[in-house]
Amino acid sequence: MEMFASASFDKTPVMIDVHTHIIPKHIPDFSKKFGYGEFIQLHHHEPGKAWMMQGNKKFREILANCWDPEIRLMEMKEHGISSQVICTIPVMFSYWAKPEHTLELSKFLNDHIAEIVHQYHGSFIGLGTVPMQDVPLAVKEMERCKKNGLKGLQIGTNVNQVNLNEPVFYDFYEACQEQDMALLVHPWQMMGQEHMQKYWLPWLVGMPAEITRAICSMIFGGIFDRFPKLRVCFAHGGGSFVPTLGRIEHGWECRPDLVAVDNPNNPASYLGKFWVDSHVCDSEILNYLVGKLGADKIMQGSDYPFPLGEAVPGELVRKSISDKTLLKKIAYENALAWLNIN
Ligand SMILES: [Zn+2]
Repeated sequence: MEMFASASFDKTPVMIDVHTHIIPKHIPDFSKKFGYGEFIQLHHHEPGKAWMMQGNKKFREILANCWDPEIRLMEMKEHGISSQVICTIPVMFSYWAKPEHTLELSKFLNDHIAEIVHQYHGSFIGLGTVPMQDVPLAVKEMERCKKNGLKGLQIGTNVNQVNLNEPVFYDFYEACQEQDMALLVHPWQMMGQEHMQKYWLPWLVGMPAEITRAICSMIFGGIFDRFPKLRVCFAHGGGSFVPTLGRIEHGWECRPDLVAVDNPNNPASYLGKFWVDSHVCDSEILNYLVGKLGADKIMQGSDYPFPLGEAVPGELVRKSISDKTLLKKIAYENALAWLNIN
């Protein structure tokens, strides 16, 4: 990654997009192979378009930029993105399956990502996925990801509704520290989605809440104190955590018997101890996050290539941040620190 070390933002507009998703063009029929479950299948119904199928249900239509690195490179050039951090689509986590089957699926996805990282040196940086429902297996696959050149892992905001503070995950966090693997925490299985199917509410209301759930669980569970070298990025600007921190802090003050049962520290004291991406769709909120979390903790992230992601990755940051030093940090310096790439 020498290309980043010598990069000068003024001469070379370097921008790393830390939040993008990718999937292999062809996925084996894991439901058939394992004999159960609704593992995602791709149905290529017309050139450049495929349905992600969950059993017989259409989960989402995706375009060729979701699987074709050449098309991605073309679009990155158009958008002024020099590198993408690539990871799978959260519905692929499949934590609900038998651990050995999630492991097999994870290996398939991780090998695909590693291959692209190696083939297009410097243009893509990889994050793996692991069977979080079985921590020893997750740690084993993390080690393999590390060996294959991935820089971190993407995990869900909950693991089959188990929150990220639980001691069952301690060995996983410990291994992340030891293996020097960054973590991207991404919303999935949004809480309450069964009660709010209309109006796309799981995505509009559930996702920001899911991320807040993950951040609060990790703070109140003392994860950042127990594992101080953990480098965690929360997607979508940390969801509703920062805008509602006043309330969260007030809760910690007025009902410590409910809130501060595992960690006596003020939740506000954790600002600056984790990273978030810039995908908040609002200039004022983006600048507000910079003020609250610090100039070193916001990174360009677009959720490319999905419709709810940034249509032109990098646009919000470029139009919202006028200070050159700060722009450089958000564009790529903070990403290099989060991923520990020199
Ligand atoms: Zn995403």
